[in-house]
Amino acid sequence: MIQLYIPLNFLGVIYREIKQSLADMERLFALLGQHREIADAPQARVLAPRGAEVRFAHVEFSYEAKRQILFDVDFTIAAGTTTAVVGHSGSGKSTLARLLFRFYEVNGGAISIDGADVRAVTQASLRGAIGIVPQDTVLFNDTIEYNIGYGKPGASKDDIVAAAKAASIHDFIESLPDGYASMVGERGLKLSGGEKQRVAIARTLLKNPAILIFDEATSALDSKAEQAIQAQLREIAKNRTTLVIAHRLSTVADAEQILVLEHGRIVERGSHLALLAADGLYAQMWQRQQARQDEELGDAEAA
Ligand code: ADP
Ligand code: MG
Repeated sequence: MIQLYIPLNFLGVIYREIKQSLADMERLFALLGQHREIADAPQARVLAPRGAEVRFAHVEFSYEAKRQILFDVDFTIAAGTTTAVVGHSGSGKSTLARLLFRFYEVNGGAISIDGADVRAVTQASLRGAIGIVPQDTVLFNDTIEYNIGYGKPGASKDDIVAAAKAASIHDFIESLPDGYASMVGERGLKLSGGEKQRVAIARTLLKNPAILIFDEATSALDSKAEQAIQAQLREIAKNRTTLVIAHRLSTVADAEQILVLEHGRIVERGSHLALLAADGLYAQMWQRQQARQDEELGDAEAA
């Protein structure tokens, strides 16, 4: 009993942590196999997104009965466009992504993709349609080839190499003594934050999802690495419906729509320029970040 209990309990911890950080949901489902908190509806259809318009319609949500987290959250991401969500820590940004992935059920309102309620489609097809690029990618203790190929079961070596090239990590991999067979992860080569993220991008390119989510919550990249990655993210976001959860506002300025979340409510929305002109919370956050960046630059020059 005890032997059985400990690993299950341990999985429970991983489950909560991964859910929490959004770090690597797909890996989680591989780990847990059939374990599901949420069941498919008896008549669940396979989601086959076309343009993949994402709609949150008057969404209400709480993790626990006593504390509501989202209040009347209502927005549409037009097919093929990018919407960025900004707001202070704890405002509910990552919760939006968890709900789109249907890790939890909404308590009110609905979430749909191309008009199909996420509760009416199979979870496998829903999750197959969404790719997540977290900033704190967790790698398997396996080869780098496996870690990229994971994005698409049955992918050929050629597909994997093509994805690695597109994510600008192929040359790096070739420079390793064991190339694509190099072991990575906790017990293998430790990759830098930027390298790990390129692996995540290659994986996502291979998966080729209609909908992308970037959660930048725990970004630990320096600004030069960040700029290189941003350019790449913009590239893969082209013509895909994209939800960017942004920490640094410099990464959202060119999104078609920016939502400002405050205590679970959308308090401002619009383009970067419109929000600056409105001179509200977004403009304040922007000015504060600009000031901090100038400070960092000043420090770098002084050093
Ligand atoms: P953000 O990504 O904007 O920092 P989150 O969406 O992660 O915020 O969290 C929004 C709120 O929900 C926070 O107050 C957080 O403490 C709470 N929360 C997040 N996950 C859970 C959970 N599993 N159970 C209870 N409360 C949670
Ligand atoms: Mg978050």
